Amino acid sequence: MGQAKRKILSNKLFLERHKYCCLCGGSVYATTIEHAPPKVFFVNKEVPSATHRVPACERCNSGSSGSDQVAALSALIQSTIHQDIPETYMEKLVKGVQNNAPSAFAAIAEGSSTDVPIKVNGRVNMYARVEIDNSIYTDWLNPWAAKQAYALHYLHAEGKILPDTAKVMVRWFTNAQVIDEETPDDLLRSLRNYGELRQGKKTSELQYSYKWQLEGEVGCFVLMLHDASMLLLGIFQDSEKAKAFPHWNIFSTNARRGIHRVES
Ligand SMILES: [Zn+2]
Repeated sequence: MGQAKRKILSNKLFLERHKYCCLCGGSVYATTIEHAPPKVFFVNKEVPSATHRVPACERCNSGSSGSDQVAALSALIQSTIHQDIPETYMEKLVKGVQNNAPSAFAAIAEGSSTDVPIKVNGRVNMYARVEIDNSIYTDWLNPWAAKQAYALHYLHAEGKILPDTAKVMVRWFTNAQVIDEETPDDLLRSLRNYGELRQGKKTSELQYSYKWQLEGEVGCFVLMLHDASMLLLGIFQDSEKAKAFPHWNIFSTNARRGIHRVES
């Protein structure tokens, strides 16, 4: 069997086992497979193993290539660990953002970064301390992050789909905040489970890893992205509980609209 045919068959089998879109409340049939995180997130799209796959309907899976590219570019420009990011990949990514997310491109191009010395493992490295414009969060990164939360929940809750009553909360930490130790380290330490992508000895650790815990109706994921920035995702199935965090970016979903921002 050819590779293309095998892929079609494997997708078909996957959708037979995972019938409903996990991104819009669980009542719409899934017809596509969403990768979370998307392949574009990894340098040269080289993923240690196939990325996490979740079932999605056409609507929930479409139109996100712009935000996928913005999320990848934003994580990569904050990362100075990867001194070896091939320029051709960055150029391709920048071009993609320019085409698919022109407003994000303009904001990133105007953004500033300062080099600061940081000691890591006894060695002083220069880090680019990147400031990310607020509009990039509102328009691109926050909705992208919310989608990751729905997908990760599906993966780790044994295929249980978050209902439209659940609330998902999103908070990013830039590499500047990581450098200034404004990150939720106690929370990070307290989360029991660790996740990454793995294939043999290859792991996604430096590009993508997370700690997580799901406890009844509450869930938490903290993602470490390209070893530079962090993303905190909170999940409340009892939406009353989300009211305790009014200043967060809160999202919900339903069959009619898909994932969308809500007031607490
Ligand atoms: Zn959907």
